[in-house]
Amino acid sequence: MTSPALDQLRRTFGYAEFRGEQAAIVEHVSAGGDALVLMPTGGGKSLCYQLPALLRPGTAIVVSPLIALMQDQVEALRQLGVRAAFLNSSLDAAGAAQVEADLAAGALDLLYVAPERLLTPRFLDLLERSRLALFAIDEAHCVSQWGHDFRPEYRQLTLLHERWPGVPRIALTATADAPTRREIVERLALEGARQFISSFDRPNIRYTVMPKDNSRRQLLDFLDGHRGEAGIVYCLSRRKVDATAALLAERGLLALPYHAGLGASVRAEHQRRFLHEDGVVMVATIAFGMGIDKPDVRFVAHLDLPKSLEGYYQETGRAGRDGEPADAWLAYGLGDAVQLRRMIAEGEAGEERKRLEHAKLDALIGYCESTACRRQTLLGYFGEAHPGACGACDNCLHPPQTWDATEAARKALSCVYRSGQRFGAAHLIDVLRGADTAKARQFGHHALSTFGIGAEFDATRWRSLFRQLVAAGLLEADLDRYGALRLTAAATPLLRGEQTLHLRAEPPKPARRRKRDADKARTTSTTTTNLPADAEARFTALRQWRSETAKAQNVPAYVIFHDATLRSIALECPSDLDALARIAGIGAGKLERYGEAVLAVLRDGS
Ligand code: ADP
Ligand code: ZN
Repeated sequence: MTSPALDQLRRTFGYAEFRGEQAAIVEHVSAGGDALVLMPTGGGKSLCYQLPALLRPGTAIVVSPLIALMQDQVEALRQLGVRAAFLNSSLDAAGAAQVEADLAAGALDLLYVAPERLLTPRFLDLLERSRLALFAIDEAHCVSQWGHDFRPEYRQLTLLHERWPGVPRIALTATADAPTRREIVERLALEGARQFISSFDRPNIRYTVMPKDNSRRQLLDFLDGHRGEAGIVYCLSRRKVDATAALLAERGLLALPYHAGLGASVRAEHQRRFLHEDGVVMVATIAFGMGIDKPDVRFVAHLDLPKSLEGYYQETGRAGRDGEPADAWLAYGLGDAVQLRRMIAEGEAGEERKRLEHAKLDALIGYCESTACRRQTLLGYFGEAHPGACGACDNCLHPPQTWDATEAARKALSCVYRSGQRFGAAHLIDVLRGADTAKARQFGHHALSTFGIGAEFDATRWRSLFRQLVAAGLLEADLDRYGALRLTAAATPLLRGEQTLHLRAEPPKPARRRKRDADKARTTSTTTTNLPADAEARFTALRQWRSETAKAQNVPAYVIFHDATLRSIALECPSDLDALARIAGIGAGKLERYGEAVLAVLRDGS
């Protein structure tokens, strides 16, 4: 069955079908209803307002918090033949006047505008004189004062409803938790809006968590499987961002740093290159990422622990928006948890807030240490049940072994106790293993009954054990003493022999990877295209053409065509425009603009 919406989807966007809730949302908003849309990143939120914008008379006003990214969104729409524009402080007076005139003349389908601009009397006045299709409020969680992205201007957006009660509003966000959702409804006066809540599963993302042992090498090994692909590496501190970016650059990767300590122009330039060029690795603090809707980010790696599962979900969600396979990879160690705890403890927040942050960190550590399906754990945290194990996370793919750690844990706990609960894991491990160090001698620890009782395990095994004892709450790190470990009440039953303990066994250390192994890893990587050789050659030629075309227009490559579209073209090798038009991702606008050029690339290549 077709409908005007489906026709429009096929003609303008070149997509065959709606995804998930899109059809229902488009129908509801096109008919004039208000909507609150909760959809994970990559779920396809933009279409939910872009299609009604085309189906309803008048201009859709899209409120978007990030000036820097409006331009790319508008550019992507223009490439489709949609009449779109943006209005923000980056335009000069003449440019802004032109956009205002277009709006008043009814010559725009969509107008993107920053909230502070929207709220000016001048702009509200202009709206009074224009025909309005709808208001879309993107990144609606910016209204929440508890989030990282709070924008006070969002609070005033209720005036849209007050002044234009007949114009439908659609608010959209990828922030899943219930308190934020309630706050959006209340703050934006959306009590009457229909709520569309999608599953937050991202089936194309593969989750992997590994204990840190040599994080530089682990990262390089991971990146070996993603050569030439775009991705983000998150680090906690600016210093680490700089060091990691330098390391990757030294190894021949196109890696750029991004953090708040860099000048605004450097940040903007690095962001531009990440968006516009193929295969850039952005090494960044969490200052980077909000609103980055580059569809072909193939991996998000965390070299340090994020602050919460919410943060982790949001950051990893930036991978694979195009629905193609992508990796979420995290390396973590005990030191990370201790450092984050200290940051919370030393922060400005009130006691209640700090307790909340500690609890969030606990949930994250629980996720890291879990032997259950990562997807189930993650979705469960957001209140969503996932049927069965996913088969696409590290725990599903390589079920972790567990071992009876009761005896070893007792030795470790008693070593903590006997040395006075004043030392960190590194020294405790030396004592357990009977290492003759200066520190052991200084404190007389070689005379302890626990000295050398743990020689049967290597330091890595002990580190894993201490980490898991902290994660399980049997030990806690004393923040005033730089991570000195001390017993908690929960350790008592184990020490008394009333309880046993089973822990996750670390995967065996991979031998230093040789080139042959690295090649193997590349071909087994989730993101391998696996095209036949002739199609692969066409794909490469098409990418080359896309890169030149994008550069000439100063737009991101994905705005021209997505990888998935180029891959289909390479596979099918259409010989005329009709055949090309049948490929997913090619609507009328793209066909007219690039059809002949694509056919020429295919002809020259064969
Ligand atoms: P979100 O804003 O929810 O993160 P986007 O609106 O950017 O997601 O869409 C994510 C990707 O999915 C985009 O590349 C978009 O072109 C694609 N997409 C959206 N809807 C469809 C559809 N019905 N069929 C195919 N691709 C789609
Ligand atoms: Zn799983």
